Amino acid sequence: METSGLVDYHLHTPRCGHAVGDPEEYVDRALRLGLSEVGFSDHFPLLHLRDPTLSMSLEELPHYVEEVNRLAGSVSGVRVRLGIEVDYIPGYMKRTAEILSAYAFDYVMGSVHFLDGWGFDDSRYVEGYRGRDLYALWARYFQVLGDAAESGLFDVLAHPDLIKKFGYRPPGDVTPLYEPCLDRVAAAGLAVEVSTAGLSKPVGEIYPGEEFLRLCRRREIPVTLGSDAHSPEEVGRFYGAAVELLRRVGYTEIAFFERRRMRLAPLPA
Ligand code: ZN
Ligand code: FE
Ligand code: FE
Ligand code: ZN
Repeated sequence: METSGLVDYHLHTPRCGHAVGDPEEYVDRALRLGLSEVGFSDHFPLLHLRDPTLSMSLEELPHYVEEVNRLAGSVSGVRVRLGIEVDYIPGYMKRTAEILSAYAFDYVMGSVHFLDGWGFDDSRYVEGYRGRDLYALWARYFQVLGDAAESGLFDVLAHPDLIKKFGYRPPGDVTPLYEPCLDRVAAAGLAVEVSTAGLSKPVGEIYPGEEFLRLCRRREIPVTLGSDAHSPEEVGRFYGAAVELLRRVGYTEIAFFERRRMRLAPLPA
């Protein structure tokens, strides 16, 4: 498919402890696909727990920034942006904001991977779903996602319905959970990420799902695109499906970021 005019803002690096391949290889893949822009958004150091298989350490953060900036300055044919994927963890956001303020990021992605201490998207802890009231769990997730949006730290919400990853869905209509959350996202002025990563997870569906994205569109919430690549060959994967979904729900523009300023550009024809 034609990927010129598209972005992949969600690339990891081996610094997080669960990705492979040099950043140069991710960029090579983007060049081969013809993407206009890519952004690295590796996992910001987790402050509430030490797990070298989940994120880089604080000591590595300046090296990450330096490495991405060096790459951005040396590559031609695709723009390379400096992003970061930050966990929303209540109680740690003031410290997180202080650390982030030392660097000139192009965008900061906010992610909810933990609910009240439980890493619900981690296959090591998947037994945590057993016996849960799934409606209450989803309600908690979308409440915390709204809190993240209102924290003022983020430009983009990553994989916004990640709670569906393993396919544990409450029965019935969940739009009453989406609506108040998306009202908060719209008021806070963030973009949401359309992430193709969900297509290779048990749920087998883009994040967010079509109904969620329609509710975003109705509120004129801007969208970005990401693959959540943890290896070079995952860059830009399933983009045909993502663009098709965006068109189907009526999106005609996608958001680009530079130095934390958002710009909308037409979705390529
Ligand atoms: Zn990761
Ligand atoms: Fe994530
Ligand atoms: Fe990620
Ligand atoms: Zn991610």
